[in-house]
Amino acid sequence: MCDIKSSCDKDVILNILSVLTDLLSLGTGRRIHYVISKGGSEALLQALATAARTEPLDHSTLLPLLRLLARVGQRDRKFGLKVQKAEATDIILSLTRRNLDHHLPLTHCLWVLRVCASNVTTGTMLGINGAMELLFKVITPYSKRHVRTVRAAIGALAALLKSRSNSRRAVNRGYLGGLLRLYQDWHHHDVSNNYIYIRRGLLLCLKYITNIQLGRETFLGSKGMEILFTSVQDCLSCKNLDPIITTATQILRKCYPKEHLPVVTVRSSYSFPLPGNAKAEPQCEGSEGDYESDGEEEAEKDLDNEDGESKEEDYDLETDVNKLRSRPVLDRPEEDLGQYEAMCPELSLNFQELELESEEEKSLKDRTENLPSAPFHFIPSATSAKHPNCRWRNQSVTEMGPDPEEQDFKVPLQSWRKKKECRWDQNDEKKDIAEAAQDTDSCENEDAARSRVLELRPLPKDAAWYKKLFYPHCEASIDPSPGGRLESSDTVRNLLEKHQEDVLFHSPHLYTARAKCVKSIPGYRDLAFPDFWGHQPPPHSKPMLERKQGVQREKVLDDVRRLIQPGDVIGRTVFDLDEPSSRSSPAQAPGCLTFFSKFESGNLRKAIQVREFEYDLIMNADVNSNQHHQWFYFEVRDMKLAVPYRFNIINCEKFNSQFNYGMQPVMYSVKEALQGRARWIRAGHDICYYKNHYHCRAAAAGGMRGKFYYTLTFSIKFPHKDDVCYLAYHYPYTYSTMMSHLDILEQNRNPKKVYWRQQTLCQTLGGNPCPLLTITAMPESKKGDDLEQFCNRPYVFLTARVHPGESNASWVMKGTLEFLVSSDPIADLLRKCFIFKIVPMLNPDGVINGNYRCSLSGDDLNRQWLTPNSQLHPTIYHAKGLLYYLRSIGRAPLVFCDYHGHSQKKNVFLYGCSIKETLWQAGCMVDTAVITEDVGYRTLPKILDKVAPAFVMNSCSFLVEKSRESTARVVVWKEMGVLRSYTMESTYCSCSHGLYKGLQLGTQELEEMGSKFCLGLLILHLKSVPCSKEVMAQAALLLDLEEEITDRAQRRCSNSSLESDDEPPCVEDIDYNTDSISDCEEDFSELDQEIQESLSWVEGEREDEGVTTGKTCSSRALKGLYISNQPAPNSTALPLGSTALGLYNGFKSSPV
Ligand SMILES: [Zn+2]
Repeated sequence: MCDIKSSCDKDVILNILSVLTDLLSLGTGRRIHYVISKGGSEALLQALATAARTEPLDHSTLLPLLRLLARVGQRDRKFGLKVQKAEATDIILSLTRRNLDHHLPLTHCLWVLRVCASNVTTGTMLGINGAMELLFKVITPYSKRHVRTVRAAIGALAALLKSRSNSRRAVNRGYLGGLLRLYQDWHHHDVSNNYIYIRRGLLLCLKYITNIQLGRETFLGSKGMEILFTSVQDCLSCKNLDPIITTATQILRKCYPKEHLPVVTVRSSYSFPLPGNAKAEPQCEGSEGDYESDGEEEAEKDLDNEDGESKEEDYDLETDVNKLRSRPVLDRPEEDLGQYEAMCPELSLNFQELELESEEEKSLKDRTENLPSAPFHFIPSATSAKHPNCRWRNQSVTEMGPDPEEQDFKVPLQSWRKKKECRWDQNDEKKDIAEAAQDTDSCENEDAARSRVLELRPLPKDAAWYKKLFYPHCEASIDPSPGGRLESSDTVRNLLEKHQEDVLFHSPHLYTARAKCVKSIPGYRDLAFPDFWGHQPPPHSKPMLERKQGVQREKVLDDVRRLIQPGDVIGRTVFDLDEPSSRSSPAQAPGCLTFFSKFESGNLRKAIQVREFEYDLIMNADVNSNQHHQWFYFEVRDMKLAVPYRFNIINCEKFNSQFNYGMQPVMYSVKEALQGRARWIRAGHDICYYKNHYHCRAAAAGGMRGKFYYTLTFSIKFPHKDDVCYLAYHYPYTYSTMMSHLDILEQNRNPKKVYWRQQTLCQTLGGNPCPLLTITAMPESKKGDDLEQFCNRPYVFLTARVHPGESNASWVMKGTLEFLVSSDPIADLLRKCFIFKIVPMLNPDGVINGNYRCSLSGDDLNRQWLTPNSQLHPTIYHAKGLLYYLRSIGRAPLVFCDYHGHSQKKNVFLYGCSIKETLWQAGCMVDTAVITEDVGYRTLPKILDKVAPAFVMNSCSFLVEKSRESTARVVVWKEMGVLRSYTMESTYCSCSHGLYKGLQLGTQELEEMGSKFCLGLLILHLKSVPCSKEVMAQAALLLDLEEEITDRAQRRCSNSSLESDDEPPCVEDIDYNTDSISDCEEDFSELDQEIQESLSWVEGEREDEGVTTGKTCSSRALKGLYISNQPAPNSTALPLGSTALGLYNGFKSSPV
């Protein structure tokens, strides 16, 4: 290395260069890095300076030197600096200039130029000194002569244009238009696609130049969109051209003019006046202005992610040991806790003085007499469902025999209908106003006029279609007018009588009764059919959708086509929540779909027909907010048969989605339901989720930075013509659905065994009761011991649905509740072990009004647990109050769990809290002597991993993040001292492991998770709480734990355990953002290959140019020399036999 710097002897230099070249070409990058670490770059630069001074230029030294510089330089991160230090920019530029007419050395200079320019400062300096002008001379006008040189020049130009100042200079000199024309020339002339690298190189130049706003504007002004779009169309049919299409598409996306969403304001259409002056005025929508600057391409982060997400960001971890330590404090006066005593009636009940049965029956009667009674439902327990690991349960049931009491209680299925009508009639007469007023769950004090207007959404138009199917004998009862809507209550009643059996565990009567009491901001008058009629899970789970190759590209190009060919865009608003008049007569828009969403949990704001069968949809923001769009639920009707309709939800906010990884939205067809298939199913194809060109000003977004939007696009072929269908993000589960399910559970439980108490935790801001349930086993007897056991059972506290868009959490909760109330012997045992306190819906208002994340106050309620406001966050305030109360009487729960849904991950998993794991993860020194921690928080997830097919321990985390300090999990852990305080996250999509791998989860699997959670609690109890012999014996009978565990472990082993949490690779590179940096141009191999390819050409041209090679040691000869000096590759190891023998002998002979 020293030699090459100092030596003036040409032969010495040549030989050194040859050796270096061969050394580096044989090895991998490691050798080059070694050379760099030994000052190789500096030495080569100095040699270059020396060589450039030689007059005339000696190409035999220069060329290998330049090649080496290019290869070494591109791997040297500080090469740019070294070039500046060596003042080599001028040398390289002047060498380039001097060789303009000698293509071989010119090409070599261009490679080095390109490598130098990879440092922005050096690139800028080169730009100032006229490098781009030089390069433009080389690449224009279009010519196929000297393509290697052109290629090298384009590579260098692209590198230079990474500098913003170079880009600005290039635009000002009109190079952008020149590049576009050149690109067109190459595109047109390269018919047989021999010069893909040149075409892509030009696109890269355009890509960098359009990183600045001036570039984008000039690009648009030069018809860049049209030119690239047209050229991409020509390329689509040829698969080799993917690199061109990808880069062109990136440019098109980036340059697509930014627009605001086509809504008057991004604030929610609904607002809710908050009590007092509780909240600052909502941010106004800042003035029109330059919302875009050159600096906007900051890396984007999903700021609004789920609980526990982005935990990989270690700086978010709480490292203050004092903060991590449990410190019981009260956020309210202690005397305020007294009110919660009433929420624990189980602790004050004196069963000895009461006739057990009559008390319970009276309670049941009080509670339900003013509601229609439900049909008898066998309360299913999801553990009894289809899964193989449930076999043991059925066996044990038969062993134990049926419960005699249970049979007494069961009402024959056939008799329910008559009974119902009778009870329904009695309803009005038997009102006990006083009781009703006391019972806040009752609807009796509701405004009667409002109740009356609630109607089921009109059924499908073509009456004849189902008249024939369902009413062959009673056509008279049906509206005879053709096409007339069947909405009379008679029709509905007829339908119900005929088809209610289709849906188990649901009662439209109860649903309607409950829905009438609901207080919503829009004042809903309609019942969505699926919620009314019910959902019965399909018999089979659906596999994840395979992503179609190139689907994102196709959709993005469709979007670009709208801009370039606006002629075929209809652009008609067909539904507008803000201006209901425009959603008027379908006559205005013949052949157009009719949309609707003004029902519980519905949230469509606007629908715009784009093309005949394509609609842009905008979701409403959360009430009192201007964001949180992800959830959707709406009705669509008047569809044609066998036509794929495309829907684009254009204001999604999350930066990635499981919709890119096999998830489908859900659809419900009324006609299917009426034919006995009442169910939400996964539907839709051509699904993808990507960043679009809509944008929200920072001021309007209420944040520091402007917001970008994402499009979820999917196509659906509806199963019937003129049907009424519903589409949703995930299986809807409304507040009224929950309330009516609670009614059914209460009416159908066995009161002799199941202690059930439904109270109201509090009224929500919107005036809806938030139910609180207490479930446990009735005491065995009225004997003192049994009553004591009853009162002393440990508590389990469960909550769900604090985030309204996470309807999966409600389905899991449904599974939990049904299991807890069921006659399953395990449930029986579980009830004897615990008292369950359950708040099944912490955010009723959000669910009712179609929010995704917040409550009516516009707050994320799962960020309010630290200091909940009794006015603004009543459900959190009182749930926390009840927990405080339990702690104050020494009965803090054994387990707390808040059920959530996770939109970006697969599997079901828990987030828990651990001081040690947090400190370890954060890299803090942990003094284990000082911090002792019970590792009991890991037991439950470990059990669930074994018993619940959807649950995956590997996805769990026990880190405490600063950003989560106000979530239920962390607050209950810290302030209540609950070791086992969890968030349970359920995927919307699928599992990466186990039984459900590759299948999209349905409600059945979610409910099963809820019941398996209960089973997990029982096992936890057996493991951690001292149990009576009796309990242990029963448990032993019911749970063959060993068998269960090995069974599950075996199943797990059959699946590869090597899977990671990462998403599987997609067929198509998913590019969510327009400013992707995932280009291959950073790949060293590209330039290496270019240099390598040109070597043969170098040899050839050397002769052409008359450079004699005779004097120098040819590189081939040297290569041979080098190799011959080394031991032959296979001689490094002795023949195996002799080695083994030698070793063996050595062993034998060596002294011990
Ligand atoms: Zn959540």
